Amino acid sequence: MNLEDINAIKKLLSVPQKIVIVPHKNPDGDAIGSTLALWHYLQNKGQQATVISPNDYPKFLKWMPGNEYILNYEKENRQAKRKLNEASIIFTLDFNHLGRVGQLEEPLENSNAEFIMIDHHQEPSDYANITYSDVSMSSTCEMVYNFIESLGDTSDITTEIANCLYTGIMTDTGSFAFPPTTSRTHRIVANLIDKGAENSNIHNEVFNTNTPSRLHLLGCALKNLVILEEFNTVYITLSQEELDSNNFKKGDTEGFVNYGLTLDEIVFAVIFIENKEEGIIKISFRSEGDFLVNEFASSHFSGGGHNNAAGGRSDLSMQDTVSRFKSLLKNYKNKLNP
Ligand code: 5GP
Ligand code: MN
Repeated sequence: MNLEDINAIKKLLSVPQKIVIVPHKNPDGDAIGSTLALWHYLQNKGQQATVISPNDYPKFLKWMPGNEYILNYEKENRQAKRKLNEASIIFTLDFNHLGRVGQLEEPLENSNAEFIMIDHHQEPSDYANITYSDVSMSSTCEMVYNFIESLGDTSDITTEIANCLYTGIMTDTGSFAFPPTTSRTHRIVANLIDKGAENSNIHNEVFNTNTPSRLHLLGCALKNLVILEEFNTVYITLSQEELDSNNFKKGDTEGFVNYGLTLDEIVFAVIFIENKEEGIIKISFRSEGDFLVNEFASSHFSGGGHNNAAGGRSDLSMQDTVSRFKSLLKNYKNKLNP
């Protein structure tokens, strides 16, 4: 963050404000971790803050301190709308286009509040009054740590804040494995443990709370895995029927796509998940190395994301989506054979 922005934020927060904090739709560990950490920080500073999530999120994130105060825009619509109407400042975290918040897009577009964006995705749009955007960052949680540090408030990081930030850094870096994980990321994580982050517990809460039906669904996904050797690519499909028969709950398919990349030689892994209710196929793309999945997702599947982790969607049937995907690969043969 530059000095001008830091001073502007200090000035804004020097008086009591009504603040709303928004993560992206289908929030993940980084989105919930960063919004809750910022919420704790602002509340402790005497500000009136509310986190409004566009929709529900998985159970393995609901243990986080402050979770019970998050408003779900789909379920607690009236209360959330009131908070949005009253807001003088709106923080948007872990996304950079208003199209990423689902039904919340319209109220955000019509709001007169000061917008502050904190985000690590590429190509930020220009809706915010203050934009703290850095694509080199491991996670939005690492940026919230920097944000608090820039305001000179590292000593105000409580155990609650440390637990929330640790969770988002851990989940967005694939447990400190992905390329944007730097020595500074580790130093921040070490500081968070010093501030009380219960690292081992957090790992258990997020990764070791599987249900039997989720493991069965994983078995089904791995059985459906198809290897396209010619393109160093694997893909997995999950139909609505397969989800239903394995008692699918939100978040159950989180991380499934990564199994493809554990195969030797494979550089591109994809999962297609049918969502009959929305009439779409939700797609996750992951890569290892130089193959840019965000470009692939935005060029062909109305999506985007990071270089090595992106998402998108298709309005075709599962069969037609997979056929289309396979025919597109022909144009990427060289890039997929490094
Ligand atoms: P996931 O595959 O886990 O849903 O998402 C991976 C990454 O891609 C995340 O950083 C997420 O924010 C981004 N992403 C997922 N779906 C979309 C989408 O439909 N549009 C855009 N722009 N980004 C997405
Ligand atoms: Mn993130």
